[in-house]
Amino acid sequence: MAKGMFVDTSICTGCKACQVACKEWNGLEAEPDHFTQGPGAPYPVASNFTGNSYDNTGKLSARDWRHVLFIEQINSRRTASRWLFMSDSCKHCTDAACLNVCPVEAIERTDLGNVIVRQDKCVGTKLCNKACPYGVVRYSEKTRTSHKCTLCNDRIHNNMGTACSKSCPTGSIQFGEVSELKTKADSRLAQLRKLGENKANLYGYSEAGGLKVFYLLMENPAVYGLPENPVVQQRRKLSLINKGGAQLSAFLMGMVALIRFRERGGRKEPGAEPGAGE
Ligand code: SF4
Ligand code: SF4
Repeated sequence: MAKGMFVDTSICTGCKACQVACKEWNGLEAEPDHFTQGPGAPYPVASNFTGNSYDNTGKLSARDWRHVLFIEQINSRRTASRWLFMSDSCKHCTDAACLNVCPVEAIERTDLGNVIVRQDKCVGTKLCNKACPYGVVRYSEKTRTSHKCTLCNDRIHNNMGTACSKSCPTGSIQFGEVSELKTKADSRLAQLRKLGENKANLYGYSEAGGLKVFYLLMENPAVYGLPENPVVQQRRKLSLINKGGAQLSAFLMGMVALIRFRERGGRKEPGAEPGAGE
């Protein structure tokens, strides 16, 4: 049975406990300090801020496998405002472009449906980085391999759930069987619609073959930077290249064999019968 997560953004408070738990469990590097004080300087100076609300990481990266997005909405008369939050990560797509394009099959799907990058097999081509329609998987100069959320592969194979869902104080991130999570999501959407939240919608039921990590959004997906129709690159495209490459190399090998055969035939080998090979 496929495991996944339902992210209900309507009850996310932007506390970033999930972001911290992810870093802690997976041993990911900390962010650079946000204040630096040079030797002899009277006070520290601000540095390494994104300049976007309370967002201090900006995007997903090789060392940030979870990112809490802050969206500030202010009306034109500046009389009302609201925050939208979305705790983002790898979506563990059913049709995963990253997995499709990897030429050395370093990206695998486990028996629980999550998609992982095998660090022992990755050769750092970055093809997955370009193929992911969500900008999730990222290359690290330090390891010369690509990295992303594993859906806490070690934890979920030991019935522990994901670190982010365990740490979320509001229940915004729920881990479990995808089919059961969808039932919960449907009922939450119906509840919100009854409360007049007409823009509330579910994202991830059909995109990229269905996302194992899917979202209840309070605005259109584009507001959160999510593509309405993500394009999923297929292995088939790479296979054709491979197939073409195999045909080309077979053709070249055939040509080399023919030339060698003709060279041997044209040369009078010692002891050869006169006329042989002519
Ligand atoms: S979101 Fe991107 S990195 Fe994650 S499984 Fe889908 S294609 Fe791969
Ligand atoms: S821990 Fe939960 S409430 Fe806090 S930012 Fe993450 S998803 Fe939102």
